[in-house]
Amino acid sequence: MTGRELLALSGADGVAAVQAGEVTAADLFDLYRARALDHGGGADGGLNCFSWIADDLPPEPDAASPLAGSPVAVKDLFCTEGVPSQAGSRMLEGYRPPYTATAVARLQAAGATLLGKTNQDEFAMGSSNEHCAFGVVRNPWDPARVPGGSSGGSAAAVAAGLAPWAIGTDTGGSIRQPAALCGIVGLKPTYGAISRYGMIAFASSLDQAGPLTRDVTDAALLLAHMVGSDSADATSVGLPEAVVLPSRLELSGIRLGVPTEIAGAQIEAGVLGAFNDTLARAQQLGATIDHEIELPHARHALAAYYVLAPAEASSNLARFDGVRYGHRVEAHDGDDEQGLVGMYMRTRHDGFGAEVKRRIMLGTYALSSGYYDAYYGRAQRVRTLIAEDFKRAFEHVDFIVTPTSAEVAFELGAKTADPWSMYLNDYFTVPMPLAGLPAISIPCGLAGSDRGLGPGGAGLPVGFQIAGPAFSENKLLEVAYALEQSIGFDGARAWL
Ligand code: GLN
Repeated sequence: MTGRELLALSGADGVAAVQAGEVTAADLFDLYRARALDHGGGADGGLNCFSWIADDLPPEPDAASPLAGSPVAVKDLFCTEGVPSQAGSRMLEGYRPPYTATAVARLQAAGATLLGKTNQDEFAMGSSNEHCAFGVVRNPWDPARVPGGSSGGSAAAVAAGLAPWAIGTDTGGSIRQPAALCGIVGLKPTYGAISRYGMIAFASSLDQAGPLTRDVTDAALLLAHMVGSDSADATSVGLPEAVVLPSRLELSGIRLGVPTEIAGAQIEAGVLGAFNDTLARAQQLGATIDHEIELPHARHALAAYYVLAPAEASSNLARFDGVRYGHRVEAHDGDDEQGLVGMYMRTRHDGFGAEVKRRIMLGTYALSSGYYDAYYGRAQRVRTLIAEDFKRAFEHVDFIVTPTSAEVAFELGAKTADPWSMYLNDYFTVPMPLAGLPAISIPCGLAGSDRGLGPGGAGLPVGFQIAGPAFSENKLLEVAYALEQSIGFDGARAWL
């Protein structure tokens, strides 16, 4: 096979080709390694999506294994033994953990190989990959625009054809939103489906790993080899049934619900157009659409999320103190604070970026005595109400659909001066993790009809989000697959 033919293989197709002896795992690995080196670094106009690229193929993979040596790009938030795992932070620069995250270890046990680690917003806090200590990541559809975040490196790598597939993490949208902005598929599984062991913690009650892939079949295949309970993560329970590769081509009997708030939300015209086209398509495939779904508390999801996630982060990030691992700045003579406290202060001042410091301050404030009930306690109650809203809605419909993001990929720098405008980008993605629910984003078309970029982002990909009840992954994948097959989105346009 020629390089271009190899590149055209999806992750699952590549696995099948290796298993059938049509290509070797080494050839696939070499192709992607060369592409990642050419376009994935930050120099020479590269996308800067990789923070580390493997030197060579690890011990000859078993071509008969379920993932047949396929190279996977892994978000830098996952600990990988002996390999830099920096979570996009100066604080962990050069940190090489002594163990591998369970999600990655499972993929490796199934035969996958580590192609590289991908850049991300620092500690997964962000929606644009501009909060990364190792430079911004660029969107392959238009390098002047963001890839989304925080798993933007993984999304950009897959969209540009620098990796057959990738994994990331989603706390408030960090898999789905970059997938949407880069024109690929991103799946956030039900909370607890995949072990969080070895994922550098952001907000532990929300964090969940998942695949970023070219298509829905690839998402299902990676998911199948990531799920499972793990004694190292007491919240991991796996999925009740084995993941089945989707094959359904119609949607008869499927009830899709559109939240009423969509009508009032500020959604870009191009995004709304592609969303409505997809609803019409779903209807043609046999689905019924209910436009009257009420999620009365969802409009408070963003406010609750931006209390709860920073609160958990402020506690989780207390471990970065310069003592045990990572960055350390000794106190200097003449500093106000000397000794251990001075070392803590200088280390954290120097090691954390501005967004991370903002979250730590917000979260510490929300948890402080006297304010705890007013902020953290109240946000927890809102969280429960949101979960109940979803439960009620799923008595009427099978899935809830929204645009993944109200806008297409925005220009670098457009939102960095105004944190709230950045947070608003997560409007449609934060309710599901608050309720622990699975949700997938699939590309549903371009805003505008051609690739020529125009005002309003004409020609940039739009994501369609489908959310389901807890543990409904198999059915969710079926619905996403039927739509994907009908849409026929051509992601290869963004390959470099
Ligand atoms: N953009 C959201 C945030 O900044 C979500 C991040 C995530 O899912 N990790 O917190």
